[in-house]
Amino acid sequence: MSKHIGWFVDGNWVTENSGRTIDVFNPATEELIGTVPANTAEDVDRAVRSAKEAFAAWSQTSYAERAVHLRKLRDGLATRAEEIATTIANDVGTPIRIASRIQAALPVTDVETYIDILDAGSDEPRVGNSVVVAEPIGVVAAITPWNYPLHQITAKLAPALAAGCTVVIKPSEVAPMVLEQLFDAIIEAEFPSGVINLVHGYGPEAGEALVTHPDVDAVSFTGSVAAGSRVAQLAAESIKKVTLELGGKSANVVLDDADLKTAVKVGVSNAFLNSGQTCTAWTRLLVPADRYDEAVELAAGFAESLTIGDPLDTATKLGPLVSAAQRDRVRGYIDNAAATGARLATGGSAAPNGVDRGFFVSPTVVADVDPKSVIAQEEIFGPVLVVLPYTNEKEALEIANGTNYGLHGCVWSADAARAEAFARRMRTGQVDVNGAAYNPKAPFGGYKHSGVGREMGREGLLEYQEIKSIQL
Ligand code: NAD
Repeated sequence: MSKHIGWFVDGNWVTENSGRTIDVFNPATEELIGTVPANTAEDVDRAVRSAKEAFAAWSQTSYAERAVHLRKLRDGLATRAEEIATTIANDVGTPIRIASRIQAALPVTDVETYIDILDAGSDEPRVGNSVVVAEPIGVVAAITPWNYPLHQITAKLAPALAAGCTVVIKPSEVAPMVLEQLFDAIIEAEFPSGVINLVHGYGPEAGEALVTHPDVDAVSFTGSVAAGSRVAQLAAESIKKVTLELGGKSANVVLDDADLKTAVKVGVSNAFLNSGQTCTAWTRLLVPADRYDEAVELAAGFAESLTIGDPLDTATKLGPLVSAAQRDRVRGYIDNAAATGARLATGGSAAPNGVDRGFFVSPTVVADVDPKSVIAQEEIFGPVLVVLPYTNEKEALEIANGTNYGLHGCVWSADAARAEAFARRMRTGQVDVNGAAYNPKAPFGGYKHSGVGREMGREGLLEYQEIKSIQL
């Protein structure tokens, strides 16, 4: 059954539009599941005007008032968790257990983080005869990708609202179905009209109209490096503040005293999370050269043990890629690696055995490649893990730091202090020591081409604030 998700302005769903719509497909069945409008620059202007009008009053609300609405939003998302997980399993192909544990649960935590920050209140530091005041930056454009389609939005929406900003969301046109549940929860949370608006559409049309709109004060973008770079260039013309959360090619470094089997097992499961369509995925496994063959064999074994199939089946560990285009892109990388001398320890570009529909790619482990080769440098965004040998810790660090990215990473050692010392030298925004748990309340963001600025935590709030010094 196909559903139409409209756009949302001034507190209401809008049905009229240019007449052009974008089709949305279930990546496991290839069936049409919905449509959204291809909103135009004119529609974007209407949404921005609504946000600008609402800013005057929302920016003056107290922390306590904002927290009241955010609590209702958190509760609305929590109540809809099952529906959200199923919607995203059908739209992105995330296996349902992971969709429940991450896609539906993380947005609740995102909102919770900023309720806690609002509850803690603001302190306005004094410097000499100045009081330093944080004020909302204004109208925020939130442009998001498809891989964690609700979390990517709430990671922007919650801090922007907490800061006192109003927002226009432009979600990915590839996986927009969860916007229905989000806006049902937003309506229930009784935000004043115009505080949160939604436009759909293509990046170069609706996205660029937002980024270049004179009444948008800040842009928070999550997506690819190419689009992020374009957004930053366009935004620079009107001197907008820009936060960029971009790609990654993160290193999972196993030091010589670590438990190799555990490190590889956890690493494989991390690399293939959401079919490898995770910006933080540890897609490069770095192991001591004298244990290279053992590590490749272990990685291939763990990859082969992942159950591939229907995302709605609770036994499934690996679903399809989000689209035919994404599947073909990933296959291209695998074929190119094989053609240029890489060894495929498992997987390959053919569809997994027994799968005759859906955008599936077999989990693939690539060995015997140069750390500077394309497959070891570029973000593939699919179930592809590259295993690289190193001969000493210095070389391990050079390889780990030797890409244009710096979003995430992991380091393993029997000596936690040694691992932490290594982590401190990695040029990346997040590092897990010995597979430590992801902390959604800690700041998140990238070095180098992985981005500019931070989301989540107190640092995430700063992206939506202007700082004013008042001399007394
Ligand atoms: P994408 O860059 O194609 O699209 C992201 C969003 O930007 C979409 O809403 C799209 O419509 C819009 N867009 C595209 N071109 C635009 C333009 N010229 N102007 C304005 N908006 C534009 O990325 P994607 O394929 O949706 O997502 C995958 C990418 O996102 C990967 O590179 C991944 O690493 C990255 N990502 C990063 C993080 C992070 O937090 N660092 C998180 C998730 C995904």
